[in-house]
Amino acid sequence: MGGTFNPIHYGHLVTAEEARIQFNLDRVLFIPTGDPPHKDGQKITNAQQRYLMTVMATGSNPYFYVSRMEIDRPQPSYTINTVKDLHEVYKDSQIFFITGTDAVLDILTWKNPAEILNLCIFIAATRPGYELDRLNNIKKRLKDELGIADIKERIHIIKIPALAISSTDIRNRVRTGKPIRYLLPEGVANHIYKMGFYKK
Ligand code: NAP
Repeated sequence: MGGTFNPIHYGHLVTAEEARIQFNLDRVLFIPTGDPPHKDGQKITNAQQRYLMTVMATGSNPYFYVSRMEIDRPQPSYTINTVKDLHEVYKDSQIFFITGTDAVLDILTWKNPAEILNLCIFIAATRPGYELDRLNNIKKRLKDELGIADIKERIHIIKIPALAISSTDIRNRVRTGKPIRYLLPEGVANHIYKMGFYKK
C-alpha cells in the first residue's frame, strides 16, 4: 500500500482492508513515501511524522504492517526500487501494489513502468462514480506503447465509498479551523493538533 499518507485517513484504511479481503492477501504493508520524486518543491510533512501517524492508524489491525523502507532510503522513492526490494524480502510471493487511481494515471511518467507492472499487480482504489475513461486510456497506452499484453490482469480497480475522504481536504480543514473528527483515527487527529501540523 503506497501513499504519501499526509495524513493517513479512514479512506486509506478501508481501501487496505477491502483489498486484503477481495484479493485474499496475507498482509498489507503500508509504505509511506520518503522523498516523493513527483512532488519536488511541494511542502510535505516530515516523513518520520507521516510514518508515525501511519503506525498509530494501523496498529489495531493484525494484518496491517508499516514499512520504513522508502523513508529510510537516501534516494528518491521510486516504486521500481520498492517493488524490487519487496521481492528480495518476500521471495516467491505475489506482490500487489495498492494505491489511488489518480496516482496510477501517471504511471507512464514513473521510472520503469513496464518492469513495475511485470513485478507486481496494481490495485487502484477509487470512489464510486469515478470516470474511468482516463484510466482505460492509460491501460491502452501501456498495452500499445510498452507491449504489456495482459494489462487487464495487471491493473484492477476497487471502488471505495470512504475515499470521499482525502488528505488534501483534511489538511484544508485543519488550516481553516473545520472539524476533522470521524475522518481519520482519533489518535492521529489528536497528534495533528498537538504537533500543529497543517496550520498553514
Ligand atoms: P498522490 O498523487 O498524492 O495521490 C493521488 C490520489 O490517490 C489522491 O487522491 C490520493 O488521495 C490517492 N491515494 C494515494 N495513495 C492512496 C492509497 N494508498 N489508497 C487510496 N488512495 C490513495 O499519490 P502519492 O500518495 O504521492 O503516490 C501514490 C504511490 O505511487 C506512492 O507509493 C508513490 O511512491 C507512488 N509513485 C511512484 C512514482 C515513481 O516511482 N516515479 C511516482 C508517483 C507516485 P489522498 O491524498 O487522500 O491519499
